[in-house]
Amino acid sequence: MQKVYSHENLFQVSNLKQLLEQQGIDCLLRNDQLRGGAGELAPGDVWPELWVLDDSRKAEAIKLIDKVELANDTDTWICNECGESNHASFEHCWKCRNEPRL
Ligand SMILES: [Zn+2]
Repeated sequence: MQKVYSHENLFQVSNLKQLLEQQGIDCLLRNDQLRGGAGELAPGDVWPELWVLDDSRKAEAIKLIDKVELANDTDTWICNECGESNHASFEHCWKCRNEPRL
């Protein structure tokens, strides 16, 4: 079992779990309930975590997560031809040369 993601926002971690499960990757949430009596632990210690059960699918899971993270970033756009993430400064899709913003 491998940890692939951690974020302070449980909603975001849950979304990623759903996404991975849609791809057939079994995973589970840890720290999905906030512990009472905060103060002893640094905030990072109680962030919800996403774990992939099958170690061999870890790389695949991280790749998917990266893609979602990029899509959430306002500095990127998703090519409507091939679905790749592109940085905002790119005028063409780096992959297929499509120009979706024209
Ligand atoms: Zn493209």
